[in-house]
Amino acid sequence: MRRQRNVKIVATLGPASSDYETIRALHEAGADVFRLNMSHGSHEEIAERHRIIRKVETDLDSAIAILADLQGPKLRVGTFANGSEELVEGAAFRMDLDETPGDVNRVNLPHPEIFQALEPGASLLVNDGKIRLKVESCGVDFADCSVVIGGTISNRKGVNVPDVMLPLAALSEKDRKDLEFVCELGVDWLALSFVQRAKDVFEAKGLADGRAAVLAKIEKPKAVEFFEEILDASDGIMVARGDLGVELPVSAVPPIQKRLIRKCRSAAKPVIVATQMLESMIESPMPTRAEVSDVATAIYEGSDAIMLSAESAAGQYPIEAVQTMDQVAKEVEADGTYREVINASRKAVGTTVADGIVAAAREIAEKTDIKAIACFTQSGTTALLTARERPSVPILAMTPIEGTARRLALSWGCNCVVTPTVERFKGAVVAAVRGARAGGFASEGDQIVVTAGVPFNVSGTTNILRVAPCDERLIYSTDPE
Ligand code: PGA
Ligand code: MN
Repeated sequence: MRRQRNVKIVATLGPASSDYETIRALHEAGADVFRLNMSHGSHEEIAERHRIIRKVETDLDSAIAILADLQGPKLRVGTFANGSEELVEGAAFRMDLDETPGDVNRVNLPHPEIFQALEPGASLLVNDGKIRLKVESCGVDFADCSVVIGGTISNRKGVNVPDVMLPLAALSEKDRKDLEFVCELGVDWLALSFVQRAKDVFEAKGLADGRAAVLAKIEKPKAVEFFEEILDASDGIMVARGDLGVELPVSAVPPIQKRLIRKCRSAAKPVIVATQMLESMIESPMPTRAEVSDVATAIYEGSDAIMLSAESAAGQYPIEAVQTMDQVAKEVEADGTYREVINASRKAVGTTVADGIVAAAREIAEKTDIKAIACFTQSGTTALLTARERPSVPILAMTPIEGTARRLALSWGCNCVVTPTVERFKGAVVAAVRGARAGGFASEGDQIVVTAGVPFNVSGTTNILRVAPCDERLIYSTDPE
């Protein structure tokens, strides 16, 4: 579906958005990617949403990416004899492996891995960081803490351990089952929670085995620390501001967001900015000025995609939330300052032939009256490199591989078109011209730039650039070329 903007919109599906009419309306309003949150919903519900998305895709002939977000291990305290306790600042409080119900002095924390990793001085956060404990001393089965910020602690509240590398895999038993289930259903992206090191990503990639691309959620300080190796290992990144803002001071999140977006663009990998973007729209048809500004900022920073969580999954105004993002995006992208910022942050041309070709395609397209850049891509790499250029003319990402088209639906500016398999460059040009005309990107008399790699059907070979007229004559000519 042709959009009048380049940044993409990811909408999480949930109880507020699980029927055909709503999912179709969300896509029509602007959702390019649908997120299935594996923390909620049964496999039956997930399969049903998946089926509906694919039906909308077929009915509207529009490539849609499906992103399955794996929950990751959840760390929780045990239970209390009284159900809950009041922790006061300065008090002593112990966490241990003893399963006896807790009281005001101690509670069970049934995760030996945490005790293995803890050190005196480390923080333990409970209930989304509302309660903060400092470890004074610890052993293999206990941690004696002091209460830094008090509050009510109750049964099975979540625990975050921001300061240490936990000897825990990013994939729990449940995540492995979920991963297999969604890969068999056929999703395009997997989002991995609780990533601490590149090896977490490698593990998921091994299990996915090419069935889906893997995106690392940056939601722990360790992931920020090891970002370079994680980015290298991943196909994409999510700035998961929710947990990041629990494990780090919230004021640390905006600079991290900015830095991560830049690095992802440099690496030509898509990046999503996520969580609380239009939080108030869960209950209100109008966003706050601050939320609109936050959405705009992520777009000015050059993010590939912006995400809705509860706003579209469980809120009262899912469609309005997508429309709001769409409107803000159009406004920002039409602003001259946006272009200036995007151009100023473009990396110098890289050293490969593909880098040179995509840079030249943008130069030619922007300096002459070219209507679009059509790139033929197998794995998606040429389209990703073209997207990194952030050209001011539309990108047509043309591929015979449906999975590639769907994955690219997450990337900045990519208008994805599934083409028949092409054997010769002439066929690619014809397909590009057809695609550009059919999509309303160009008409008779216009010109487009076509890039491709010859021989076809081998990835990583971009080596041709052609300026082609969008003429009927070309489409129907039989000249071999
Ligand atoms: P979640 O991830 O909503 O699945 O926890 C996003 C975040 O932490 O921001
Ligand atoms: Mn999270």
